[in-house]
Amino acid sequence: MVHFVGAGPGAPDLITLRGKELLEKTDCIIYAGSLVNPALLEYAKEGCKVYNSAEMTLEQVIDVMKEMESEGKDTVRLHTGDMSLYGAIREQMDTLDELGIGYDDTPGVSSFSGAASALCAEYTLPNVSQSVIITREAGRTPVPERESVTSFASHGSTMVIFLSSTLLEDVQKDLLAGGVYTEDTPAAIVYKATWPDQKVCRCTVGTIAETAEKEDIHKMALILVGGFLGNEYDRSKLYHPGFTTEFRKATE
Ligand code: SAH
Repeated sequence: MVHFVGAGPGAPDLITLRGKELLEKTDCIIYAGSLVNPALLEYAKEGCKVYNSAEMTLEQVIDVMKEMESEGKDTVRLHTGDMSLYGAIREQMDTLDELGIGYDDTPGVSSFSGAASALCAEYTLPNVSQSVIITREAGRTPVPERESVTSFASHGSTMVIFLSSTLLEDVQKDLLAGGVYTEDTPAAIVYKATWPDQKVCRCTVGTIAETAEKEDIHKMALILVGGFLGNEYDRSKLYHPGFTTEFRKATE
């Protein structure tokens, strides 16, 4: 069978215990070499076959899975972060369904969580934003018009923009075109979150492209935008002394 496993954002100790155990036991690992930290391959047992999917087509990936299955062996398909985001797992699972090969999924820590940790930030501050929009700029992969960065920016909520490090002039323009964020709205660029060479650059919406250029960041970065990176917010109701919950009576 095939185990789809989320590798986490980079640091090898940010894979889940279950994911690590699957890596230790498996006969074959197909890992997304463009983004997965190769240090994770050290968990593999002796004799484990290792393939880098960055150099393979979907068909070649499936061929390896088929071959392992025919020998009665397991494959771990190791995807960066959590594979439910931009992981291209659906097409693999649908093909495995056609072939009658079983699979399961083990989640991972997405890079958007890794980036928040790098900043010690909370995406959902009371009275600032209670929603996180995860999206990307349209590039070689199109994005439906109704999901344009500009249309999402019109909400003024927290935004996390993936896969767009080479399109930052467009990102900046589209964020401003939403009409809610201004040039001064806080933003950040997090490069290689949780890797040893992680870079965290705080900036504003008006200076995203210029900041990336200055820091020489052209890939493996997330753009974070919104008031959650500023200093104004309300304290939570949950921990307020005047707020009664199922577990605690208000004391004032
Ligand atoms: N499934 C992954 C995302 C894969 S898409 C996840 O959950 O994180 C690849 C994009 O993710 C990159 O272009 C970059 O925007 C982002 N990314 C992946 N790992 C990253 C990291 N450690 N730091 C910053 N961005 C990262």
